[in-house]
This record gives sequence, structure tokens and C-alpha cells, in this order.
Amino acid sequence: MSSLRPSPITPTVDFDRDGVQHGFLRLPYSRDDSAWGSVMIPICVIRNGSGPSALLTGGNHGDEYEGPLALYDLARTLDLKQVSGTVIIVPAMNYPAFRAGTRTSPIDKGNLNRSFPGRPDGTVTEKIADYFQRELLPRADIALDFHSGGKTLDFVPFCAAHIRPDKELEAKGFAAVEAFSAPWSMKMLEIDAVGMFDTAAEEMGKLFITTELGGGGTSRAETVRIARRGVLNVLRHAGIVAGAVEMQPTRWLDMPSGDCFSFAEDDGMIETMIDLGEPVEQGQVLARIHSIGRTGAAPQEIRARMSGLLAARHFPGLVKAGDCTAVVAVLVD
Ligand SMILES: [Zn+2]
Repeated sequence: MSSLRPSPITPTVDFDRDGVQHGFLRLPYSRDDSAWGSVMIPICVIRNGSGPSALLTGGNHGDEYEGPLALYDLARTLDLKQVSGTVIIVPAMNYPAFRAGTRTSPIDKGNLNRSFPGRPDGTVTEKIADYFQRELLPRADIALDFHSGGKTLDFVPFCAAHIRPDKELEAKGFAAVEAFSAPWSMKMLEIDAVGMFDTAAEEMGKLFITTELGGGGTSRAETVRIARRGVLNVLRHAGIVAGAVEMQPTRWLDMPSGDCFSFAEDDGMIETMIDLGEPVEQGQVLARIHSIGRTGAAPQEIRARMSGLLAARHFPGLVKAGDCTAVVAVLVD
């Protein structure tokens, strides 16, 4: 690590200065329309003395909106007098992807959440990952990274933490998830944890929580309310913002194995057979994929490999072989 060159990113904020600062992470990016141009990633630092620090992020994927809506709002409204410690807010981590409204970056096709630990001499997306890895994550006592389903998935709204080998950190993660107070709370299993921001934070021993709050490449009034309440609750829980956590009832879900996930084996038009949040029996048909190239073909049935409830579904009406079609989670209580 120490042999890596410095990050090319220059912050226009001072992380050790008290007060509210709105600025940028300036990343040089020379290109056709701007020879000595830069990518300007918005950042807000709110610091009031020594104390715990939180790193709050959205737009890790550029087509997920609850996090950015809650975080631009928080940066504009959080009262310095209410804060003890530091809040670092980056509402649109992969800013080029966020500007384009796409999951990955239009510059290099980089999926920021598969690019960690990143490289200071890599692509634009890898340079962003490297800056979070070496400069921002080490400053955080707690990190909250907002996600939603993006254009291709839709979720029941939940806050989540991972099962971790360190049980003390795991319990702290689940307590922070409870404080977030989404309608659902998830003990989350990753399909593909290599290169994730989550993994980077956890390998650093950080308290890390995340969300999936809807999807479809848009947001809903309810899910944005959940995000706004949740982020304030987490800051209160961490002792950074004054006041009591506004606890709401939540129900815990678990993703006990890879049997949670179903994938399409054919291209076609997807017919959802049950809706999000509804109970599922093992073997039940969750969705059917209809062939569109010809008439008379029987649809492919997607069957649940375990019982539980439908926690996520494919969003667009057309599906391709290999797409994740459904996620079943188990109700814990
Ligand atoms: Zn995401």
C-alpha cells in the first residue's frame, strides 16, 4: 500500500477544519472537450470538534436515487450546532455515472462497487475507489453507503449489514441497522463481494451498513422518507447528532445461502407471479419468462429454491439469460 503513488484527487475542503464546507474532490481527467479538465465530485464536510466521524455516501451506482436525495438534503440542512464530531457526505460517489444516470461510468464502464481497492494510476473509476480506500474510509468510524435497485432491480426497502467473522463488529452493525429503522432489516449475503466498497470498509475493521431502498431507476415518496429518517437516526445512534433515535418497527430478514437468488436461463418477457414482500413457498413459481421470438413456446418457469418472502425482483419487462430475476429472503422473527 505505502508504495502506491499519491492519489491524483485534490479535495477543495479541509477535513480537519471546524464548520460546514461544501466543495469538491477534483479528479484531473483530460479529454476531447476539456484538455486540462477535471471531474468535480461534490463533497460536504460538517465538523464540530473532535468526536466520532461518519462517512455517508450515495451514487456508488449512478442510477439509484434515495441516497443522493437524502444526502444532498442533509448537506444543505444539517445544523452545525447539532453535530459533535465529523460528517463527511459524498452524495454521488461515482459522479460521472450519476450524471449519466447509469449504473457504471460512461468514461470507462467502471462499476465503482467492483473497483475497490482501486488504483491511483488506473481508470477514472479506479482513481475514485483508491481515494475512498486510502483517504476517506480511514477517517470514518462508521460508513453508511446507500443503494437501491437501479434500473434493473426493485427491492423491499431495507437497511443491511453483513454477517462478519468479528461478532462484536457484526452486532454493532446490526444495532446501527436497527437504528436506521427501515421497514425491513437484512442480514445480507453478497453474490460477488470482491471489489466492493463494503468489503474494503469491513477489511479495514470499520462499522459498515448499507441499504437497498426500492429501485427501477427512480425513487418513491415513501422510500425517500425512509432514507432521510434513516440517515439522521444513524448519526444520532453514533452520537454525532444530538437527540434520540426515532425508532420505527422493523422486521429482520436473512439471506442464508445462494439459494436466495434466481437467474433467467432464457431471454424473453418476464411475468412476475407474486409481488414484493409477499410470502413464497419453496418450489412456487416466482416468475415466468415468455419467448418473444415465436408463438406456441411454453414459458420458462422460475421457481423459488427456498421459502421466505420476495425481497427483490427484476424490474424491466424484458429479461436476458443470466439476469437476476428474483431474490427470496427468510423472515427471522
Ligand atoms: Zn447499487
